[in-house]
Amino acid sequence: MSRKVVLGFALFAAAFFLGVVWFHPWLALAVLFCSHMLMLFPTLVANCQWWGPVVRRFETPRPEVWLTIDDGPNAHTSAVLDLLARFEAKATFFVIGKHAQEFPNALDKIRAAGHEIGNHTCTHPSGTFWAFSSARMASEIDRFSIASRFFRAPAGLKNWLLHPLLAKRGMDLIGWTVRGLDTVSSDSAAVVERIRRKLQPGAIVLLHDGEREFYRQCLEQTLIALTNEGYRCVLPTPEQLRPRGGGK
Ligand SMILES: [Zn+2]
Repeated sequence: MSRKVVLGFALFAAAFFLGVVWFHPWLALAVLFCSHMLMLFPTLVANCQWWGPVVRRFETPRPEVWLTIDDGPNAHTSAVLDLLARFEAKATFFVIGKHAQEFPNALDKIRAAGHEIGNHTCTHPSGTFWAFSSARMASEIDRFSIASRFFRAPAGLKNWLLHPLLAKRGMDLIGWTVRGLDTVSSDSAAVVERIRRKLQPGAIVLLHDGEREFYRQCLEQTLIALTNEGYRCVLPTPEQLRPRGGGK
């Protein structure tokens, strides 16, 4: 399934509806309903690629993962950096623009420690981003100008307008292989186990940087588990994100 097919069918369904609704109202409604479902699926299923590529893993033969840490920075980001240093782990921080404004030195500290920055919107409108117009999405990407080639949508939800905006900016949409669900959990062992079960070379792991001490607990225990399994946290090169055959 691809963007063109889904959008083409949506156009067809709208025309079909207008043409047929007076003669076969239920059929017209059914076709319209199907087209809406077809558009909602890639929008509300985070890693679905019908709207365009979503990077969900990277190519490596070695036991390596890409650790991604969302929603910072905050007053505790230095503690996260200390933890990563202790385990010699590298990570990409998908930061929220307004948080970066509140902690202006944080991005420099993250970069100075050898980590990367990703763009995770300006205000993190997690409930509504997927329904935004192109202009509002562009504003969420650009307003605080977080220079990065990576973008992650709030909660991973996006509509068909996002990929053209990212392409124009030379950015990739980054999904994940496994998320710890640390924002909705209160059991760090369960978070770590969820990650451990999906561990594989090239996995993208998603955790969070936030006010709760629990996030640091989850990160620390995840780093311990990764070390025990012989895995390292690395930053993939652009080539590793572009597997032959177009990638998955
Ligand atoms: Zn987020």
